[in-house]
Amino acid sequence: MIDIISEIGDSKRIAIMGHMRPDGDCVGACLGLKLYLDNALKDAKVTVFLEKPSETFSYIKNYGNIDSDYDCKEAPDVCFSLDSSTPDRLGEGLLIFKSAKKTICIDHHISNRGFAMINHIEPEASSTCELLALMFEDRYMDKEVAKALFTGIMHDSGVFQYSCMSRRSFEVVGRLCDYDFDRSRIIDESFYQKSYVQNQILGRTLLESILFMDGKCIAGSVDRKTMDFYNITYKDLDGIVNQLRVTRGVEVAIFMYEIHSLEYKVSMRSNGKVDVARIATLFGGGGHVRAAGCTMNGTIYDVLNNLSLHIEEQLKAIEDADDR
Ligand code: AMP
Ligand code: MN
Ligand code: MN
Repeated sequence: MIDIISEIGDSKRIAIMGHMRPDGDCVGACLGLKLYLDNALKDAKVTVFLEKPSETFSYIKNYGNIDSDYDCKEAPDVCFSLDSSTPDRLGEGLLIFKSAKKTICIDHHISNRGFAMINHIEPEASSTCELLALMFEDRYMDKEVAKALFTGIMHDSGVFQYSCMSRRSFEVVGRLCDYDFDRSRIIDESFYQKSYVQNQILGRTLLESILFMDGKCIAGSVDRKTMDFYNITYKDLDGIVNQLRVTRGVEVAIFMYEIHSLEYKVSMRSNGKVDVARIATLFGGGGHVRAAGCTMNGTIYDVLNNLSLHIEEQLKAIEDADDR
């Protein structure tokens, strides 16, 4: 674990950043660390640089103070990279990160090779927020910090459901529950609740999804034209891949949306047999064994042909091992 406060010492300019298209863990970690440092440090300036997150996270304190213009005039003394598996995923934040005198990376992606001066990477952790909670001292914690970290753990674990939730993760959540905030409401409003149009696009994608490889694989996609028609962004597509994943018999779910013509952001989810991080890494992406992503070129059929080759290979290897 990193002793965050002593690593900062008497540094005055602190920057915090996370990966592009930030999810709940990323937003919770960045804001949670800012709130904690604001409580702990007397006269340091702590700034979160992050692509604008979904409004669903606006209940976390300081959401409105996120700098999404990356307006950093002076190089930071210390820069934190949270929940980002590679420096590239910091997007526009990368320049600020590179300019910092000291860099600290805290993450739980198996594909993270440790790109900062100080690194704490634990692939077994449920979330970056879990790691932060373990580093945070009680005396600088408060309800707002707890809300932020709770959000991150809850989102990355599918409301505490996935196998990434260890005894330690639950203990961390237990400690956060000592603070008085409306947990059920946060779970409902930030995780489950969808707008009408988000539900429409979910329904449409499920309706048009394709099942292949003997029902072991399912894929759904949303193209640019559809996104323009519904006037939605990628933030409205959260959760679709998880709904695909819970189709009975499926080992791997693939969801993709068109970023530019013939360029897709691909999300993969596995029910345990297939290591999707390994496949995503082959295509320049990364992630975790059961949840990974990458960007791929071509038509959706090119993408599916490329991916299914590797999925089949892994499933075949398991079958062969079972036969032996
Ligand atoms: P997603 O499918 O975008 O929800 O991402 C699933 C997991 O894979 C998350 O932990 C992401 O941080 C990671 N991931 C997604 N896309 C990429 C990428 N292009 N490169 C590295 N990691 C990624
Ligand atoms: Mn993330
Ligand atoms: Mn995460």
